[in-house]
Amino acid sequence: MNIRVGIPRSMFYFDYFSLWKRFFECLGAEVIISPRTNKHILNRGVNACVDESCLPVKVFHGHVDYLKDKVDCIFIPKIISTCKREYNCPKHLGLPDMIKHSFSELPCIIDIEVNLRKSDRNLKKSVLNAGSFFEKRKRRIYNAFNEALKQYDDYVKMMTKGIIPLRTFDKNDDMSLLSSIIRKDYNRTILVLGHSYNIYDQFINMGLIKKLKNLGFDIVTAEMVEEKRAREYAAKLPKRMFWTNGQRIIGAAYSLIDEKSISGIIYVSAFGCGLDSVFIDLVERKAKEARIPFTLLTIDEQTGEAGVNTRVEAFTDMLDWRKKDEDNISTLW
Ligand code: SF4
Repeated sequence: MNIRVGIPRSMFYFDYFSLWKRFFECLGAEVIISPRTNKHILNRGVNACVDESCLPVKVFHGHVDYLKDKVDCIFIPKIISTCKREYNCPKHLGLPDMIKHSFSELPCIIDIEVNLRKSDRNLKKSVLNAGSFFEKRKRRIYNAFNEALKQYDDYVKMMTKGIIPLRTFDKNDDMSLLSSIIRKDYNRTILVLGHSYNIYDQFINMGLIKKLKNLGFDIVTAEMVEEKRAREYAAKLPKRMFWTNGQRIIGAAYSLIDEKSISGIIYVSAFGCGLDSVFIDLVERKAKEARIPFTLLTIDEQTGEAGVNTRVEAFTDMLDWRKKDEDNISTLW
């Protein structure tokens, strides 16, 4: 029987799912993904996790709780750094340890370390460590990873074309809503900004993208801006941005603001996120200079949908009003 490896549908899933799923499958494993986040998963996560954590980490706990009795091992990498001289949030790298601390009974955890801060060569070591759970022959492990990289490259290319292609890699994944997001009308295009797990997990943000689409707006996200372009813009900051997510979020926002290709920005942030407190300030200032409306949606497990609806409707009404009356823009924005 194939080894069953669980991947929680949370946190790094939204960036690297296609890569690791393909990798494990090429090594003969059966990959089991937890279902989309729902109230039950959120409650399980809130009960298992320490109160001080941000919402995405609590949700991640809920996904692990769902998987833990259904698989032989769970993939929870310690992602310290994915780019030279850059880091991820400390909560990303502490994830496997937090999980082990929070649950008394767990299957084996594939907690490989990914640390490319000094050199890309460390990736080889991480790949070998992950693959050795399933296969002893190094050549087969590297071949599986090269195969997975091809799929990951396709995924990134589709993202930049404006298509969120999770459905492409998992026919059972009901992400069709996101698969049709393509920029059409720059006057009615909103940049939905934030960490991928806050943007693409439609339970966490209470269906924000669906709401905006229903109101007739097109959506663009940071992942739809080519990485090279985002990095060029992030490099213009007076101080080097050493958070990889910051490179993407700030660089993408700055490039779209300069291109004048968006009519507004909604930033989705988890309550208490230290990184976001920096990113939000930088993006908001730039948006103000360019007179692009900006609003912040802060989410935690207590956030009510009615409040989100009111904020979103007020924001989009203001955009519509602004478009109709472009010569009479309030100085407050
Ligand atoms: S970046 Fe923010 S939202 Fe993401 S894990 Fe860290 S604290 Fe939580």
